[in-house]
Amino acid sequence: MGAYLKTVSPETMLAEGRGVRVRDTGGRWLLDARSGLWNVTLGYDHPGIKEAIRRQLDTLPYANLIGYGRPSALSMEAAEALLPHLPSHLNKIRYCSNGSQAVETAVLLSRFLHRAQGAPERNTVFGMWRGFHGLGAGGGALTGIPYVHHQAGPLLPDVMHAPGPFEAHGDGQASDLERLMTDFGPERVSAVVVEPVVGEGGHVLTREYLTSLAQFCRTHGIHLIVDEVTTGMGRTGAFTRSGQLDLRPDMLTLGKGLTSGYAPLSAVVLSDEVYQAVRGLPYDQQFFIGSTNDGHPLSLAASMAVVEALTTEGILENVRARGAELERRLTSVVKRHPQVTSVRGTGLMYAIESDEPDLLRLAMEARGVLVSTLAKWPLVISSDEIEEIVVAVDQALGDVAEFAS
Ligand code: PMP
Repeated sequence: MGAYLKTVSPETMLAEGRGVRVRDTGGRWLLDARSGLWNVTLGYDHPGIKEAIRRQLDTLPYANLIGYGRPSALSMEAAEALLPHLPSHLNKIRYCSNGSQAVETAVLLSRFLHRAQGAPERNTVFGMWRGFHGLGAGGGALTGIPYVHHQAGPLLPDVMHAPGPFEAHGDGQASDLERLMTDFGPERVSAVVVEPVVGEGGHVLTREYLTSLAQFCRTHGIHLIVDEVTTGMGRTGAFTRSGQLDLRPDMLTLGKGLTSGYAPLSAVVLSDEVYQAVRGLPYDQQFFIGSTNDGHPLSLAASMAVVEALTTEGILENVRARGAELERRLTSVVKRHPQVTSVRGTGLMYAIESDEPDLLRLAMEARGVLVSTLAKWPLVISSDEIEEIVVAVDQALGDVAEFAS
């Protein structure tokens, strides 16, 4: 936090957004190749989303999902609009407020269900080192980044981590996650939480790895929770990465691009099997969870406009075409820069691995392009804008090399 605050100056705060660009208080327009915090997927002035929020403001600006049995009718409409685009065995949605909360809700629901079904010893949840699922006590516990645990832990107990397939053996090799769960005792595992593309590093988990994990979970009665807060809603060129890979998770989380970041919203989507298991419990054994702003009507209205945009504006096609272009151009440009050890990703989610990620980020900023340590490009980006980013990558890598020599 301290280091972050030091980098904020009166000229670098953001004041305005248009398309894929933002203007800072110093008057400089920058290409936002990190899409806000990876969530402003449809750019900063999408007319359909703005109009939907305005209309909802005049109709019903608030209703809640957790108390007194009067949810907004819009929550049903929004779910009905989204569900046809998700894997068909997932057919119930619980809206939440943010991504960490969606992960936490899925994990607690998993534990609750095992307990209600007479297996309280099934309490441990596995995540992956380098995985990101939030920074609080629930989502943060699943996050596989050590400082998140050290800064103020212990966080949620009975959470364990395994190396990802990219760690020890290289992509597509034997699964440490499955081996660790076998050694630990799969009958004590409640759930496994994975990102299909690891956001902090751009590692793409292969179809084989994920299918094998899904099979392992099914065999051992473990819930597979696929965290698609980042990969969902178009980023990989489909509504979900799970759908793209024919995966059948028990629960799937969405967030970020669900509203293109115009209002806070996330969701836990349940398989029919999980939902029926919850439904089948006696009345005095219900899962009670939620927060005041879950499924906020302004956010739900935004989410419906996003679904409409993804289905009618050629955005998924754009992601696939621009993604292929981006991979080809980045791969070619980095050949000139030996300090880049790898380019990896999929859709509009690409990482460049270099020894100096922070320097490179700042050099890119100096060249007029905002990136995070991993870039998440706006889904509405054009060919010219891709080229602008690639040229900035090329120049910024040159700047960093010069600086370091
Ligand atoms: N899961 C994933 C995969 C994420 O990338 C993030 C946020 N970067 C989260 C969960 C947490 O979402 P939020 O910041 O909305 O709590």
